[in-house]
Amino acid sequence: MYSEQISHEEVNVLSPEPITLMPFSLALSRHGLKLNRAKTHTLQVNVGCLCNQTCRHCHLSAGPGRKENMELGIIHEVVSYARRSRFETVDITGGAPEMNPGIGALIEGVFPLAARIMLRSNLSVLNDGKRGQLLEMLKSYRVVIVASFPSLNEFQFDSQRGDGIFQISIAAFKKLNAMGYGHDGSGLELNLVSNPTGAFLPPSQAETERRFRQILKKKWGIVFNNLFNFANVPLGRFRQWLVKSGNFTAYMEKLSFSFNSCAVEGLMCRSLVSVAWDGYLYDCDFNLAGGLFMGGRKIHISEMPGPPEPDSHIATADHCYTCTAGAGFT
Ligand code: SF4
Ligand code: SF4
Repeated sequence: MYSEQISHEEVNVLSPEPITLMPFSLALSRHGLKLNRAKTHTLQVNVGCLCNQTCRHCHLSAGPGRKENMELGIIHEVVSYARRSRFETVDITGGAPEMNPGIGALIEGVFPLAARIMLRSNLSVLNDGKRGQLLEMLKSYRVVIVASFPSLNEFQFDSQRGDGIFQISIAAFKKLNAMGYGHDGSGLELNLVSNPTGAFLPPSQAETERRFRQILKKKWGIVFNNLFNFANVPLGRFRQWLVKSGNFTAYMEKLSFSFNSCAVEGLMCRSLVSVAWDGYLYDCDFNLAGGLFMGGRKIHISEMPGPPEPDSHIATADHCYTCTAGAGFT
């Protein structure tokens, strides 16, 4: 068995500006809290960093030039792991997971094993003229689509995601609606993820959802099921942008000052395990981006007999403050 210990200090060396932030683990212990696993019911599969976009806020620095892509051999390992672990949900992400040639094999493989399959999509990739077959597959397997849609403002949207991406995303959105996605009672769930377009925390989720629902419907006739509002994680390209724009220290302080101890119980890392394109395991996709292995140990999916044990340790670093800021990131 191959395993190695990764120190907390190694991960925190990532800070490019002098910053006196209380370590996240200390913030937890000052509130009498520990971050340990509950029952792990979700397997998140990150199939790689290849993406058709190069968003400014991307914690993985994904883009068209990235070579990491889950190969068929690892996809088969993922399916075997899902079979022996009986996860309720399989959550597929990337990059743009639609661009992985093995995406169909992955969906087909996990379909009989999990009650819910989710696909994280940037929308624009669904409208590149190459996804007709995949779209039909998503519909017939009732895959839940979780689509990024940061802003209703075209200029802000494009400044984060690239020129022209707003209009392409609107067209993809309409295509999904025409297939039945996002309509109540269709059984085809379409959820949105919105995030701030700068170095600030998101506004209230309920208010954002109300505004998006109203404006998308009124201006473009678009409908969706739910909206989730997430803060940007200071890793990857977003971290580089924070540093370059001189916002890194202020952003980290904002996150840590907004620490909400009540958010800890519902953190997604307590019920999710994330597998990377090479088959190694992490407590979440942010720890994957930060190179922080599951529980601080490098373990391959092929070595795991089942889901991580309840009460097992979760690796943390300062980017975890993103998840506990305000209402939290669950
Ligand atoms: S945020 Fe999503 S859509 Fe944007 S570059 Fe990263 S993976 Fe691609
Ligand atoms: S980044 Fe968030 S989800 Fe990941 S381990 Fe830290 S608190 Fe948990």
